[in-house]
Amino acid sequence: MELTNWAGNVRFRANRIADPASTEDVREILRRPGRVRALGSGHSFSLIADTEATLVSTAGLASAPVIDADARTVTVGAGARYGHLAQALEAEGWALANLASLPHISIGGAIATGTHGSGDGVGTLSSAVAALELVTATGDVLTLARGDEHFDAAVVSLGALGIVTQITLDIEPSFEVRQRLYENLPLETALSHFDALMGAAYSVSLFLRWTDPDVVDQVWTKSRVEEPPTIPGDPAPATEPLHMLAGVSPDACTPQLGEPGRWLDRLPHFRMSHTPSSGAELQSEHLVPRRHAVAAIRAVRELADDIAPLIQVTEIRSMRADSLWLSPAYETDTVGLHFTWLPDQPAVEAVVAKIEAALQPFAARPHWGKLATMSAAGRAAVWPRLADFAALTREFDPGARMRNPYLGFLDEL
Ligand SMILES: Cc1cc2nc3c(=O)[nH]c(=O)nc-3n(C[C@H](O)[C@H](O)[C@H](O)COP(=O)(O)OP(=O)(O)OC[C@H]3O[C@@H](n4cnc5c(N)ncnc54)[C@H](O)[C@@H]3O)c2cc1C
Repeated sequence: MELTNWAGNVRFRANRIADPASTEDVREILRRPGRVRALGSGHSFSLIADTEATLVSTAGLASAPVIDADARTVTVGAGARYGHLAQALEAEGWALANLASLPHISIGGAIATGTHGSGDGVGTLSSAVAALELVTATGDVLTLARGDEHFDAAVVSLGALGIVTQITLDIEPSFEVRQRLYENLPLETALSHFDALMGAAYSVSLFLRWTDPDVVDQVWTKSRVEEPPTIPGDPAPATEPLHMLAGVSPDACTPQLGEPGRWLDRLPHFRMSHTPSSGAELQSEHLVPRRHAVAAIRAVRELADDIAPLIQVTEIRSMRADSLWLSPAYETDTVGLHFTWLPDQPAVEAVVAKIEAALQPFAARPHWGKLATMSAAGRAAVWPRLADFAALTREFDPGARMRNPYLGFLDEL
C-alpha cells in the first residue's frame, strides 16, 4: 500500500519501511548500506522525511516515560506522541510547559522541525529538550545533554544527523488552564496593541479567515490564572465553543468558555481523539523576529487578494528565543505567521512564494515541516549557523545517507 503523509500531499518513495523497537534495532538498520530517513507521525507537509530507500518508522521507539522528579525531566522514546506522553505525565502530577495545536505528533518529529505552540514566555517544543540519544548515520550512539558540544545543533536536526531514539524533556508540576475565545477584533487594534495582546495570557493565538482582511476573527487565550485576560479593544468573548474554521463543528476542539481543566486538555487546540484541523489542507508558516512582527503582518495584509481565495485560516503565535541552531526562534523572540490552505498545491505554492518575498525584509524563517520555496542562500541568510550545521552533517553522515532532495540546500553551503 502506498505510504503518504497525514495530509496526503506527499507520497513517500521508499522501497523499504523499517520498524525498529530499540536503539540496537536502529543501529542494525544503519549498519546496512543505502539512504535512510526517519519518519515520525508523518504530519509534515514538506518533503523533509522522504527518501527513495529506507524509511525508518519511529512508531515502535515509544518506550514508557521515565520521570526524574529531582531533575524535573522525563525520558521517553522518540516515536512517542505528545498526547500519550501528556497522559502519563498527568497521571504522576507532572506537565510539559507547552504543546503544539495538535497532540497527535511524534516527539522526535516535532523537535526535529522546531515545532511550536504559542506564548510570549514559552519556547518552542524543541527548547524543552534537556537531552537526547542519537544514533548517527555511521551507527555511533551519542547522548547529548544541554550544554554539551553539538547539542544545540542536534535538537532541530531535520533528521539529517541520524535517528533520535530517546528524548529527555523538561517537566513541571501539573497545572490548570482556562481557555477563552474572543471574536472580531479589528486588525488595526491588534497591531497597535500587539505586545499587550500577545502578552494577555500564557498562550495567545490570533486567527484570521481573510473574509474581511481587516479583522482578527478569533483570539484564543490559554491562561494559568483565574482572571479573564484583558484584551485590547475589548472584543466580544465567545458565548459558545468555536472552531477556528468557518462552518466547522467545534467538537474536535479542546474545551473553551473559561472552564478550568488539565493543561493537556487545553494547551492544544485539538483533542487527541479527533482529527485536528479540517483534514483536507496544506500548511505554510514563516516566522519573523518579534521586533518585525507588526510590519510583517502589514506586509502580508497587502497580499489579501492573493491569499483570500485559497485560505482556510491564518494563525499568529509567539515564542521565546532559544539557542538551537535551526530553531525558528534561534536567538530571537519570534512570531509565527501560519497559513492553513485549501489543498491546491500549485496555487498555494505560488502564493507562498509571494508571502516569502514580502517577508524577506523581515528575515522570515520558513517552518521546516511546512510548504516553502526558499533557496539555500535565503535560508543561510536567516539561520546564521546553517553552514556550521551542514559541516556537522558531513561529520555525522560522511556518506550523505540521510540526505534527500529536500535537504539539497545543505550541499550548497
Ligand atoms: C494538523 C496539523 C497541525 C500542526 N500544528 C502545528 C503547530 O501547532 N505548530 C507547529 O510548529 N507545527 C505544527 N504542525 C507541523 C508539525 O508539527 C511538524 O510537521 C512535525 O514535524 C510533525 O511531527 P512528525 O512526527 O509528524 O514528523 P514527520 O513529518 O514524520 O518528520 C519530520 C522530520 O523529522 C524527522 N524525524 C522524525 N522523527 C525523527 C527521529 N526520531 N530522529 C530523527 N529525525 C526524525 C524526519 O526525518 C523528518 O525530517 C502541524 C501539522 C499538522 C498536520
